Amino acid sequence: MSTLKLDRITKRFGNVTAVSALDLEVEHGECVAMLGPSGCGKTTTLRMVAGFEDIDEGEILTADKVLSSKIKNYYLPPEKRDFGMVFQAFAVWPHLTVYENVAFPLRIRKLPAAEIERRTSDALRHTNLHKVANNRPDDLSGGGKQRVALARALAIQPKVMLLDEPLSSLDPHFREEMRFEIKDIQRRLGFSILYVTHDQSEAMALSDRILVMKGGVVQQVGTPTEIYYRPANRFVFGFIGLSSLLRIRFFNGRCFVDDIDMPLDAATPAPPEIVGAGEGVLAVRPADADFVDEGGLPGIVRRRSLLGEIVDYQIAVGEQVVRVQKTRHEPGPNTGEACQLKFVLGNWYPMTDSADS
Ligand code: ATP
Repeated sequence: MSTLKLDRITKRFGNVTAVSALDLEVEHGECVAMLGPSGCGKTTTLRMVAGFEDIDEGEILTADKVLSSKIKNYYLPPEKRDFGMVFQAFAVWPHLTVYENVAFPLRIRKLPAAEIERRTSDALRHTNLHKVANNRPDDLSGGGKQRVALARALAIQPKVMLLDEPLSSLDPHFREEMRFEIKDIQRRLGFSILYVTHDQSEAMALSDRILVMKGGVVQQVGTPTEIYYRPANRFVFGFIGLSSLLRIRFFNGRCFVDDIDMPLDAATPAPPEIVGAGEGVLAVRPADADFVDEGGLPGIVRRRSLLGEIVDYQIAVGEQVVRVQKTRHEPGPNTGEACQLKFVLGNWYPMTDSADS
């Protein structure tokens, strides 16, 4: 069985359904990121798993025990769930040394002194804090403080770590460094991670699978590649990575962007149900639109910006805008010039998507 199983869990606050019938299984050693816009229910889900919130429906289980079950009317308090937890705020005790911060949960659990010493030293070594074990957390940077919180969670040797935006208070440099550090420690120690973030690059870099939520409802669960290249709906496509969503009409077997006749390109054929409906949305990543000399969709370069290695274009096509990105070595038009576009890859969605409601 999986290390952690969420079986149709639901949470309501008054008439707001924060999480609706959410299913998820986290496998041994797997990292699953929960990703979605603010208010979509990520933190509530994590809090239900941690035991800080009871559930209104469903069950939460680990391989060997039930944690919360509505039907069995059972709820195990957080301190008995044995999860490691790291939150956004630097939750460290300023009056204790780094060593004592890490040892504290083990002392609460009344472990033998030698075991406390061994686990604390191991956790400090895994997080590179052994040299500052006698310092106070206030002597450390934000990244250092968060490392103390991580070491404290590791010391209880959890099978599952619950991380809620643990890197969002760090500056970008530390954030990237800690991202790889967490992944590295996870590989070495083999625990599973359930990770809440609204940062898609963090989710892509850290996780084996990503769960995308909107309005308390799961939109898709898949590997980063599946989520990026085969998004289940328009919302997921638009939420992950940059995208252009072009409204397109079909008329007499021809395809139009506003009033512009669009060449039907073999690389992006519309499925029959979209053609049959007479309209649809073509979603295109900026790297999947190419400039061509002839036979493309006509547009005007509204803005061309150099972003280091990448050149970012906004191309006006009728009333709509297509985002194109090329490396700075690739030739491309200048601001104000006419150009033609060909889409090498795109995803078609119905004009009204189930995720829109
Ligand atoms: P963020 O990224 O901003 O933290 P989130 O995806 O984690 O957002 P939640 O914090 O889980 O979202 O909130 C989900 C919904 O539940 C929101 O509508 C929120 O206002 C509501 N909510 C969360 N906690 C409570 C509470 N204690 N009482 C009432 N409503 C709540």
